[in-house]
Amino acid sequence: MDESEIPKYWFNIQAVMPNKPLPILNPATREPLSSKDLYPIFCEACADQELNTTDEWIPIPEPVREQYAGYRCTPLVRAYELEEALGTPAHIYFKNESVSPAGSHKLNSALAQAYYAKEQGITNITTETGAGQWGGALSYAAKKFGIECAVYMVKVSYEQKPYRRSIMQTFGAAITPSPSMSTRAGKDILTVNPADNGSLGCAISEAIELAVNTPGCKYALGSVLNHVCLHQTVIGLEAEKQMAFAGEYPDIVVACFGGGSNFSGIAFPFMRHNIQDGKKTRFVAAEPLSCPKLTRGKFEYDFGDEAGLTPLLPMYTLGHTFKPASIHAGGLRYHGAGVILSQLMKDGFMEAVDISQTESFKAGVLFARTEGIIPAPESCHAIAATVREAIKCKESGEAKTILFNLSGHGFVDMAAYDQYISGNLGDISISEDDLARYISSADALNR
Ligand SMILES: *Cc1c(COP(=O)(O)O)cnc(C)c1O
Repeated sequence: MDESEIPKYWFNIQAVMPNKPLPILNPATREPLSSKDLYPIFCEACADQELNTTDEWIPIPEPVREQYAGYRCTPLVRAYELEEALGTPAHIYFKNESVSPAGSHKLNSALAQAYYAKEQGITNITTETGAGQWGGALSYAAKKFGIECAVYMVKVSYEQKPYRRSIMQTFGAAITPSPSMSTRAGKDILTVNPADNGSLGCAISEAIELAVNTPGCKYALGSVLNHVCLHQTVIGLEAEKQMAFAGEYPDIVVACFGGGSNFSGIAFPFMRHNIQDGKKTRFVAAEPLSCPKLTRGKFEYDFGDEAGLTPLLPMYTLGHTFKPASIHAGGLRYHGAGVILSQLMKDGFMEAVDISQTESFKAGVLFARTEGIIPAPESCHAIAATVREAIKCKESGEAKTILFNLSGHGFVDMAAYDQYISGNLGDISISEDDLARYISSADALNR
């Protein structure tokens, strides 16, 4: 498909959900927030999209579509050799989002957010990044639309993934390891534990603090929020056309799950047919064993960040004080799931599985050897969940059609592959006691 096939609208699933998401709340007053309450943090267009529960189709601004045309439509590929290696009758397709200049799906939202900031007269944008994928995407998008970008990078990733830092610097952004002494939130954490490895939650706190205290500066988030999930729907809208071109429709759609944006992107356009047309596609979110918010978390109000600066979000959460293990899939180490996704999970429209780190890399290596693309450690979780489904098809003899999202490539994650190949990679799961302790930090907000 050529660029004339790039969608002209994003699909807003909020408009068709049988149960709308619960409101997000002001933590002090417990009153529902309006989009105007979000204006001090986000640019206005994004804040409006966040709470838009009525417009099913939202136009993609032409300058954003022009940037999309640089790498979209992304390829939809049938993984024949992976099928053959697994000996499965299943038809396995993947949507290849790794071909974007940033190497992942994250650019789909970064371009939209940088564009809206520029439109509003904002000069500086700030954010956090875990594995460095979001930071890389926003750095590039900011450059495209002529604004400055400052990134707080989770310290463990800053140290484990120096090349991601270099990528962001190459695109022209300023990078600070988090926790840092440059914010109140960072200082508070470092005072308690000077050796703190950082977390996405803490880096978010730092970036929001900078945005709120700096004129002309707004915050941008790369996952979790409704407007981010909205921007990613270009993935599934293209995939729907491409699958139709191949004469297929997915029985199962799979994506890895950090905060839920790439999952939303591939899943929502197909899920609308479950909601509206009685289709029976299954939607499987693959999360890490060490960060199991959907499989073991609790649905309740919680903060989106560690310091408690965000509104209260109704979501599946492990508690905002959750300290994720230092797994290589840095983009999956977030304590909560997006608000829309959490409601869809609660209402049974999607399911989740947890995948150990070694299972994920085993699947990633098989994919690399059969399909010739080295997947991001995050994407390896989606591949592992796909392999599980394909093996079930082998056992039952059913030729199901499985579509998964290849959210990014792993060319900057070769240190992780080194560790796996040399047998030095372990699996971490959380004890019931630790889990209960972390979740109690959210429970305390729901009394
Ligand atoms: C950030 C990231 C993820 C996880 O984030 P979601 O919002 O859950 O999609 C997955 N894959 C890659 C390559 C990423 O960069």
